[in-house]
Amino acid sequence: MGIINFLERFDPKNIIAAFSSRQDGNMSLCYGDTQGSLESRKKLLSGIGIDYRDLICAKQVHGKKIAYVTGSNKGAGALDYESSVSDTDGFLTDKKNLPIAILTADCLSVFIYDPVRPAVGILHAGWRSTEKNICARGVSMMQEEFGSQTDRLLIGFGPSIRSCCCKMENSFKSNFPFGLINRVDGIYMDIALINTRQLVDCGVKQDNIFDPKLCTFSENNNFFSFRKEAESAGRMISVIMLK
Ligand SMILES: [Zn+2]
Repeated sequence: MGIINFLERFDPKNIIAAFSSRQDGNMSLCYGDTQGSLESRKKLLSGIGIDYRDLICAKQVHGKKIAYVTGSNKGAGALDYESSVSDTDGFLTDKKNLPIAILTADCLSVFIYDPVRPAVGILHAGWRSTEKNICARGVSMMQEEFGSQTDRLLIGFGPSIRSCCCKMENSFKSNFPFGLINRVDGIYMDIALINTRQLVDCGVKQDNIFDPKLCTFSENNNFFSFRKEAESAGRMISVIMLK
């Protein structure tokens, strides 16, 4: 399947926004089989106009901390995991040619684009960060840092485990009044729906949220899934950059 440059419809002249598939290889320098990861990153990213040595990655912790990054962060986590920005689950920037990335295998990646400023963001929203409402944090930081108008923001979702497959512990209790589905065999969570509602509650227009509805667990031939593959799972990359 290869790379999906799924935000192209938004503004291909001014941004690069894409996520990888299983066929592109493991993009993590820490999880899964990392032997070919750097080569896979290089191949994938050069194909879409990004220098893999410029990448900014995070030591993701399922929190809600988001970092505003600039040129001084360029290359953090690009060539080794240790140099990644620590304790962070999202990036924002208004700098050009600064690719910011999140690595996932079931968690939802949330792409943010403000075409007016312009500025971009990328968030790592698994169920824990979703509970902490990382989307609201991302939107408010876009307002604070860049003066973004929420009704102008364009949002994209990467592939993630979807409500068809996202079974929670029977004891799972959530603070959300929605997004949990009771089925005969247990409770399922609709992470994409919850993030959509959180964004809309912040003033993002529903029509400006693009969700390709790809399930990593159902479509395990195309995507890595931690729930399906456990420790051997590689990671997909979600990357966005202002040109
Ligand atoms: Zn599924």
